[in-house]
Amino acid sequence: MRKVFAVFLVALGALAAVRGAGGQQPKGAPFSTAIMKLKDGLYVIPGYDGAATGGNVAVRVTSEGVIVVDSKLPVLYNDIVDKVKSVSSQPIKYLLNTHQHGDHTGSNAQFLKTTEILMHRNARANMIRNNLPGPGRIVYTDQQSVFLGGVEVQMRYMGRGHTNGDSVIYFADLRAVHTGDLVVWGKRSQGTTLTPVMDYAAGSGSGKEWVATLDNILKLDFDTAIPGHGPVLTKAQVQVFRNKMQTLNERMAALIKSGGRKTDIASRIRLDDLDWPFQAGALDGLFDELSKP
Ligand SMILES: [Zn+2]
Repeated sequence: MRKVFAVFLVALGALAAVRGAGGQQPKGAPFSTAIMKLKDGLYVIPGYDGAATGGNVAVRVTSEGVIVVDSKLPVLYNDIVDKVKSVSSQPIKYLLNTHQHGDHTGSNAQFLKTTEILMHRNARANMIRNNLPGPGRIVYTDQQSVFLGGVEVQMRYMGRGHTNGDSVIYFADLRAVHTGDLVVWGKRSQGTTLTPVMDYAAGSGSGKEWVATLDNILKLDFDTAIPGHGPVLTKAQVQVFRNKMQTLNERMAALIKSGGRKTDIASRIRLDDLDWPFQAGALDGLFDELSKP
């Protein structure tokens, strides 16, 4: 009983944290995409959605060149290059992609002429399968590192979630991560609220395995997390996101266990306390996945 109550209190605390941080955006102009310094040598070019601003781009500056994470949309190539130039005169030597989606790989084709592009083997396969331009030339399966100017940047595969090829980019020396769309937070620049996307069709993702993947991320030593979209987060906020994902899985499993059908999702799965306003049909894939014996 006491344990149940303690869990309840933790859940309440998590929800309070969500509310407190809900809608939190970088200080200054709302939805600013000005390059922002996070730590010595680490910057972010913010991205809040899949359309106008794309995903968050991380910029790791070293004395021998720049390592960039993700490339937003094709129309934002020059903007990324200009913003990197404003913080370093070094060339962009490596582009690391968190996954295959076009709001994270959109400028790949332009970068590929001058920059080596790295991604998970499955992310590359998904790009080929979905006919997306600019697949990376270098792939990995479990883990790989780029060493440049005395700095190591790690790419880690921590399990399925948003897709089956999500890389977590780990800046261990700075205690920072870029999670790609394994974590999203806050609002799109159009004002609607971001929800996690389980890309079953084009990305072979998994809402069920996503929780364990987030647990693997939380085992890393970091205090700063750049999500796929939205404001820069603390580790505690990543924990909040993980707990919400688990709650969503539990509610879907309960619906299925009670004989609920796909058409009952909208009326019987509570989402308001999670602040994830899923579009109709967005959770059908999770229903199917959790319905499998
Ligand atoms: Zn994505």
